[in-house]
Amino acid sequence: MKIHEYQAKELFREYDIPVPEGYAALSRDEALENIKKFDTFPIVVKAQIHAGGRGKGGGVKLASTKEEAEKFVDEIFGMTLVTHQTGPDGKEVKRILIEQGQNIEKELYLSLLVDRETASIVIMASREGGMDIEEVAAKTPEKIIKVYVDPLMGISGYQLRQVAFGLKIPKNALKEFTGMVKNFYDLFVQKDCTMVEINPLIITSDERVTALDAKVDFDSNALGRHKELIKLRDLDEEDPLEVEASKYNLNYINLDGNVGNIVNGAGLAMATMDIIKNAGAEPANFMDVGGGATAEMVENAFRIILADKKVKAVLINIFGGILRCDVFALGVVEAAKKTGITIPVIVRMEGTNVEKGKEILSGSKLELTSAMDLADAAEKIAAAVK
Ligand code: GDP
Ligand code: MN
Repeated sequence: MKIHEYQAKELFREYDIPVPEGYAALSRDEALENIKKFDTFPIVVKAQIHAGGRGKGGGVKLASTKEEAEKFVDEIFGMTLVTHQTGPDGKEVKRILIEQGQNIEKELYLSLLVDRETASIVIMASREGGMDIEEVAAKTPEKIIKVYVDPLMGISGYQLRQVAFGLKIPKNALKEFTGMVKNFYDLFVQKDCTMVEINPLIITSDERVTALDAKVDFDSNALGRHKELIKLRDLDEEDPLEVEASKYNLNYINLDGNVGNIVNGAGLAMATMDIIKNAGAEPANFMDVGGGATAEMVENAFRIILADKKVKAVLINIFGGILRCDVFALGVVEAAKKTGITIPVIVRMEGTNVEKGKEILSGSKLELTSAMDLADAAEKIAAAVK
């Protein structure tokens, strides 16, 4: 689960990670009110959306007067901000953070991630902060420092110093910096994060460290033990169809292709996406209704996929085990009645009560195409979207 920059900075304050003075607003008026809290300039007006790259997209503006700040609030609030992470449609700005401007001497990069390969927490740092870290990693990987921390051992002093020396932190800021990284590590572990990132982490002209940006991603599977974090969720920032699917416990992820698919079981869903790609088409989603799905869940799954405008055909691939084929078929028929299908639907069904399931589907007067097997299904779905 992702949160906004201003929420992440609240969390940083709790962990004694230095951040600039700042106030967040949920309305334009409130943002204008917040400007009055500053009497030293410049101040920074920052669009709050979950995607990064806001600076380049025009969502971060440095104002040297109160009037200029008001102008930026007017421009940014409600704007559709397009960055390389939002996709071409962009994201409407509904929250604004106003912050005290900082004197930047050097912009650094710092993040913590779970590294599955070594089963450790990796600290990534670079003197090439502020800019696109993916580009630094691709072109000049030697400019990224990596320190691996065994989560059972915890972080040690020498590892903190390794990061500090790698970043050439000025002597006067060393103690503050290592203390900050230690706190950053504690936050990561205690809040069950999958990623925390500060880009840029700045050294100010008076040699202090400050987090100018903040990104935090929590492990959604661990939210059960962090009730205080759940209220930070902003559904406006999430894919509406994914939010809808999560209400029914459906494992759904929206993708870029045009072949919608409904499958029972995550492994079968992965395999189905593979065969769709193999046949030269692109999956529009991952949808696992689960082994024990009810007719109602199937109905909701089908409805969600049909609501996705980019879907040009649907492939249903069901292996009837705990979810019997007849129960599944009833769900499909119900959903089809309610939504009306105007696109081709190809069905491949095997397993428990398959005959009964097929009877239900063929007796329903729905225009469905059945497939003999997986290969046949793939061929038919690719032909349908060509
Ligand atoms: P992002 O583009 O979404 O990653 O947003 P950031 O919060 O990283 O802001 C983008 C850029 O704005 C930073 O890399 C800084 O160069 C600049 N910036 C942000 N706050 C300040 C500030 O207080 N003073 C100055 N001079 N620049 C700032
Ligand atoms: Mn940034």
